[in-house]
Amino acid sequence: MAEAAGKAGKVGTTSAERRLRATGRITLVGALVNVLLTALKVAAGVLGGSSAMLADAAHSFSDLISDGVTYLSARVAAKPPDSNHPYGHGRFETVGTVVLASLLITCAFGIAVDAVTRFGQTQVPGAIALWVAGISIAAKELLYHATARVGRKHESPITIANAWHHRSDALSSIAALLGIAGARLGFPILDPIAAIIVAVMIVFAALKFARVAVHEVTEHALENEILEELSSGIRALPGVRSLHQLRARQMGPNLLVDLHIEVDGATTVSDGHEVAERVRRFIEEKKSNVTEVLVHVDPEPEGDAREAAGPFRPRDEVEADIRRVAGAAEDVSNVRVVLAHYLEGRTAVQVGIEVDPELRVREAKEVGRQLQLELEQIADIDHANVHLEFDGRRDDLPRSLAGNRGAP
Ligand SMILES: [Zn+2]
Ligand SMILES: [Zn+2]
Ligand SMILES: [Zn+2]
Repeated sequence: MAEAAGKAGKVGTTSAERRLRATGRITLVGALVNVLLTALKVAAGVLGGSSAMLADAAHSFSDLISDGVTYLSARVAAKPPDSNHPYGHGRFETVGTVVLASLLITCAFGIAVDAVTRFGQTQVPGAIALWVAGISIAAKELLYHATARVGRKHESPITIANAWHHRSDALSSIAALLGIAGARLGFPILDPIAAIIVAVMIVFAALKFARVAVHEVTEHALENEILEELSSGIRALPGVRSLHQLRARQMGPNLLVDLHIEVDGATTVSDGHEVAERVRRFIEEKKSNVTEVLVHVDPEPEGDAREAAGPFRPRDEVEADIRRVAGAAEDVSNVRVVLAHYLEGRTAVQVGIEVDPELRVREAKEVGRQLQLELEQIADIDHANVHLEFDGRRDDLPRSLAGNRGAP
């Protein structure tokens, strides 16, 4: 049985590895083709005297840089948090994207300015520019099909997106081809006009990157449906009564989530923490790119009453008062446990006492009732609930539950 499970696990790993290898290989092929095309286009642009071809070369070059930045920043972003970057390194990818987008826009601007100065030119681009534009279109269309096939086979959205990028690159070369052909047919101005069209295409590509990065840096709220999906799932978890202030911030590829949950106000700290942990695990399972979840636990709905009640007296002070009063009370032999509740703007305490074992039950009850009245005289205690504890100290309980933390 264990053997079979182990085998299944292994097969899963190798298919994931195969997927990574296949998508990685086609990405590398695309990058190599971009290197070749860039060199070819620069040569053809210079030799053939075509600004449209040079603009298309710049586009291929920017694609190369984009591949490089994507690769490097994704690697840095995957590094775990350290003391210098406690929220992780996700923002490096964002910075990479912004740098890339600014590079592309600067480059496109240069191309456009250069093209405008060539509006009056009479020079006709050489046939080599025409040929290279044709080669580029064919190469990019082939790359589109090859990459899309790998992407579909391995269900990799990023690879499919990459395939579409190849196809949009072909569009840029088509614009160049039309400009060059038009210029050779007797309309030289068509060549710089095609260059400007290519420059505009580069700017649009850059703005698309930049948009994502700017949303992230300005902490643009996550898609509502994602938050709603998370929120309804969290509400259904055991122990969660309600939630509010669910927020998520993007950090490059990573997601940081924080929220407030409402739990039973009378439950214990450790139980509330358990509920919070349940929420954290749920979010991390639901969204695999979540690297951090911060859950704030509220004991009751937030409201004006709670705000107005302001800070309460610290529990240690309240407990010291209780032990002092109980210590002075007749027949109370020990205070085993003091629980303080700060709910609905009031302070309520639960106090477990031991009494003289010789007392009758009726007498013991009277001791408790008397102590309750005295405790409610203490400043800031609105309500006291006194109960009798019977068994003595037990060493197998967690220390904080065993009582006897101080004699009354
Ligand atoms: Zn491109
Ligand atoms: Zn809250
Ligand atoms: Zn914790």
